[in-house]
Amino acid sequence: MKKLIFLAFTATLLIAFSSPASAQLKSTCKKALFIGAHPDDPETCAGGTMILLKQLGCDVVSVYLTAGESGIKGKTHEEAAAIRRVESANACKVMGVRSLWVGQVDGYTEVNRERYAQMKAIIEAEKPDVVFTHWPIDSHRDHRACSLLVYDAWRQLDHCFELYYFEAMTGLQTMNFAPDEYVDITSTVDLKHQAIMCHTTQEPEWMLDEWHIPMEKMRGNEFQCKAAEAFVHQRWRSSEIVK
Ligand SMILES: [Zn+2]
Repeated sequence: MKKLIFLAFTATLLIAFSSPASAQLKSTCKKALFIGAHPDDPETCAGGTMILLKQLGCDVVSVYLTAGESGIKGKTHEEAAAIRRVESANACKVMGVRSLWVGQVDGYTEVNRERYAQMKAIIEAEKPDVVFTHWPIDSHRDHRACSLLVYDAWRQLDHCFELYYFEAMTGLQTMNFAPDEYVDITSTVDLKHQAIMCHTTQEPEWMLDEWHIPMEKMRGNEFQCKAAEAFVHQRWRSSEIVK
């Protein structure tokens, strides 16, 4: 019931997500959160969709579970976090979206009762109608933690937002990912790459050439467009037991 009421308030924008079987799934979106474990995750995994939603009038927030404290060799956690916060701020400026920091530490993410409550409180306060986060089967521990925290919040909040999973460097990090929704990002892919290039400490040119551009092309081939991002839509049934 809560979900139906919530969607009734947000039924203004039509975003076209489509299945590979070509049936069009129309989803409404006024506010979307993209929750990643590290400063470059939302933009690399779903930046084209983030920009597209923003251009369509949706309020888009890039949420970072950690500040990438362990992501720059030779730098302390504090130094790396400061640098990577600036990189993300620049990327968000390119995409035209707002950033939000959860405050966990890169490489030391926790999944416990306090962290579940924290993620639930953040999402509850933002009141999104769509949330994207990591697919849970991933070689990176922080990605798995992020996915579990968001999934738990979605359950505890009575499924009041649509939940989608994105992929991160599939084959190296994300595994067993079989998408059921695609977004054509042909019109936004160049801006997405500009945002990724803001993460100067993360070898962005290599990351684009080796991983992100091939993935965009592969998903584009599957969806019969130049470049696409792919997602898994979380299903549920009203008889679920929430614990
Ligand atoms: Zn990551």
